[in-house]
Amino acid sequence: MASIFSKIVAGEIPCYKVAETDDCLAFLDINPVVKGHVLCIPKKEVDYIFDLDDELFIKLHLFSRQVARGLKKVCPCIKVATAVVGIDVPHTHIHLMPLNKPSDLNFTHHVEVTPEEQKALAAQIAAAIEL
Ligand code: 5GP
Repeated sequence: MASIFSKIVAGEIPCYKVAETDDCLAFLDINPVVKGHVLCIPKKEVDYIFDLDDELFIKLHLFSRQVARGLKKVCPCIKVATAVVGIDVPHTHIHLMPLNKPSDLNFTHHVEVTPEEQKALAAQIAAAIEL
């Protein structure tokens, strides 16, 4: 069965997209840990990041770097943190999270966001990303 992220890639499930290339997609996390929580995924469905072939592994990281640079312009932060977890969704994804203090990186805490806020934020981030 296709992963939820493959369904997003296929356009069967909506997302707040912030960037896309032939091989990768970035969109806002549906349940953000911090404002501006973005997920970067390869379009190809591979569960475990360290099973990606070299080319796609590198492409995903270069893509994530560009997304993080744009994200930092829109969501003021000390640094954009990255994390790879993959416990819930078996489709490789890099979490990008704008952090201002270590405790911001807490996957058991979530911020409230409305669909309108997510839509506006995604548009701002998308406009700030240079691929
Ligand atoms: P992990 O697999 O790294 O433990 O967590 C999966 C992440 O994907 C979570 O942060 C969760 O909120 C996010 N997520 C799960 N389903 C969806 C979805 O349908 N859309 C979006 N945008 N994010 C999702």
